[in-house]
Amino acid sequence: MLRFAPSPTGDMHIGDLRVALFNYIISKQRDEPLVVRIEDTDTQRNIEGKDKEILELLALFGIEYSDVIYQSNNLRYHRAMAISLLQDKKAFNCFCTPAELDRKRELAKANKIAFRYDDTCTHLRPEETIDNENPFTIRLNRPAKAIKVTDVIKGEMDFDPQDIDSLVIMSAEKLPTYDFACAVDDMLSDISIVIRGEEHMNNTPKQIAVRDALGYDKQTEYAHLPMILNDSGKEMSKQDDGSSVKWFLEEGYLPDAIANYLILIGNKVSHEIFTLAEALEWFDLAKISRSPARFDIDRLKSINREHLRRMEPKELSRYVGFADSDIGEVAKIYLEEAGTFKELRTKIEPIFAEKVIPEMFTEAADKLRVAINSAPFFEEFDAFNSYLIKETGLKGESFSRPLRLLLTGAEHGPELADLYIHLKNYLGEIVK
Ligand code: GLU
Repeated sequence: MLRFAPSPTGDMHIGDLRVALFNYIISKQRDEPLVVRIEDTDTQRNIEGKDKEILELLALFGIEYSDVIYQSNNLRYHRAMAISLLQDKKAFNCFCTPAELDRKRELAKANKIAFRYDDTCTHLRPEETIDNENPFTIRLNRPAKAIKVTDVIKGEMDFDPQDIDSLVIMSAEKLPTYDFACAVDDMLSDISIVIRGEEHMNNTPKQIAVRDALGYDKQTEYAHLPMILNDSGKEMSKQDDGSSVKWFLEEGYLPDAIANYLILIGNKVSHEIFTLAEALEWFDLAKISRSPARFDIDRLKSINREHLRRMEPKELSRYVGFADSDIGEVAKIYLEEAGTFKELRTKIEPIFAEKVIPEMFTEAADKLRVAINSAPFFEEFDAFNSYLIKETGLKGESFSRPLRLLLTGAEHGPELADLYIHLKNYLGEIVK
């Protein structure tokens, strides 16, 4: 079983979507189910409705899953496991107050050494730990030996017990800490491979320490995806404008193109344009580069353009807000200058809008309007063009510029002859 474990604390980030896509691909390739685990135990940070939004986005991208688990529903298991660790003396109650710990943390900082738990409560006698008055956390005993992590992308790493420290597994409120809940839930779901962002790399040995302490010996694989960098070479963060999946959709990028791009970056692939279904055939986690991937919006746009080009005209037409496939064909012509369907709309809507004609052309435009509206139907642009020249007596730029404005609403653009093939049936609507 695989899992995608988003926190419902904000908009889905492009990096989260990449993690979801990779989990989906591997689950399909291995024929193992994928569950979505909504990590909602940080109640302060949860945002109402974000869980539904995440699930809707997964559906939009064609990421199928077998179940949705809410982490908060596993609270009783987290508590039961913490108690069993206490009983087995693999965990202990810690009565150090936040103020004391802060003081020691400050001291460590002043001495320029990393703060580590100083074992104040590690060896308390049982009678000393029966305390009904003071709040206490539960800490896992510091592991006895180094924890080895084998990562499909990053290779092998050893983590020192000192760095894992005596991890708090239950807060004073008796709520599981993030690493504890995550480790227990992965165990409960019998996860075979954890695929997640590299920001969780340092959590992995802690989570393995929890599982070791609980006697869970299933070998779980790990794959930590290198981060995505923004234009300035920094980690693309949730604060970056244009880092949420919603933003890309609103900007007119297609789900297929976004998925294509996210699978492509930092990867070795034999061709640039593909669908998610195609990627299932050849995707290989081991080919993901260890170094961070840089987000390049121009490349995404060129991939988006290719996906738009491959789209059925009728579908493309719907994306730009029209019903007829002819408009999809017109949109395809405009792909020379537009890369998203939002940009396409800014090209196509003016064709049907009221035209603003500069004063120098108003007279010519009036003549043309009359001629176009009384013209017979012409199959070919050349014949249409010659007819208008003859009827209006206009020539050169005083003919061609107002004609383009009347037909397209813009001064520049693709060849009118190419557009005419698809617009000839709509002249009445266009030239009002
Ligand atoms: N909830 C974590 C996040 O949103 C993911 C945890 C995990 O995949 O283990 O980043």
